[in-house]
Amino acid sequence: MEKNQTYLLNLLNHNSINIENLRTFAEKNSVPIVDRMTLEMIKQIIRIHKPTKILEIGTAIGYSSMQFASIDPQIQVTTIERNERMQQQAIQNFEHYNFQKQIHLIKGDALEQFAAVENQSFDMIFIDAAKAQTQKFFELYTPLLKNHGVVITDNILYHDFVADIDVVRNRNVRQMVKKIQKYNEWLINNEAFTTNFLNIDDGLAISIKGE
Ligand code: SAH
Ligand code: MG
Repeated sequence: MEKNQTYLLNLLNHNSINIENLRTFAEKNSVPIVDRMTLEMIKQIIRIHKPTKILEIGTAIGYSSMQFASIDPQIQVTTIERNERMQQQAIQNFEHYNFQKQIHLIKGDALEQFAAVENQSFDMIFIDAAKAQTQKFFELYTPLLKNHGVVITDNILYHDFVADIDVVRNRNVRQMVKKIQKYNEWLINNEAFTTNFLNIDDGLAISIKGE
């Protein structure tokens, strides 16, 4: 398994662009950016689905939003971040890598920023913020998703804990993992969406609005 992963990541590495330098920074500073196989999966979904308007919940340093925007100059990303330090670093990175025209940062808690985007519609939503709130983000923002639009949820297997909650001793982590379990069950039973789950990296859900 590990060998397969290393082999494939090395193959993919040949196409990497310099935004990838931020991964080293993120790892050193414990910023939980999207894992590599997951990122490549999402990028391929973007190439197939061709969204022009993407909404991201959870910007961090702007790594994933720049990766998405880099696929096509037509793509516009709106991304929401509540942490001030992260906001500053994201703005800096968007300038440094020249994505100011394609990426719009909304500063604030995503649960309170609906009004900032309510007049817009999106082709894709990437949910990657506080894991206990994922369902709330989904319910709040998917009314803005076009029919046949795609919702991608990261970390649905959180650290292998979601499938094996008994190993979790910490009370807060346990609460969070329970919420992810509930979300996954709610999502697969949500008849307005067709969902599948991918067992790569920290787990990924891909949900399509409508039939
Ligand atoms: N998508 C990024 C990683 C995001 S990490 C990437 O892959 O590159 C998760 C981020 O979500 C953190 O920076 C955290 O501050 C932010 N976050 C958590 N809860 C949030 C909320 N309710 N509203 C806005 N941002 C939130
Ligand atoms: Mg994530």
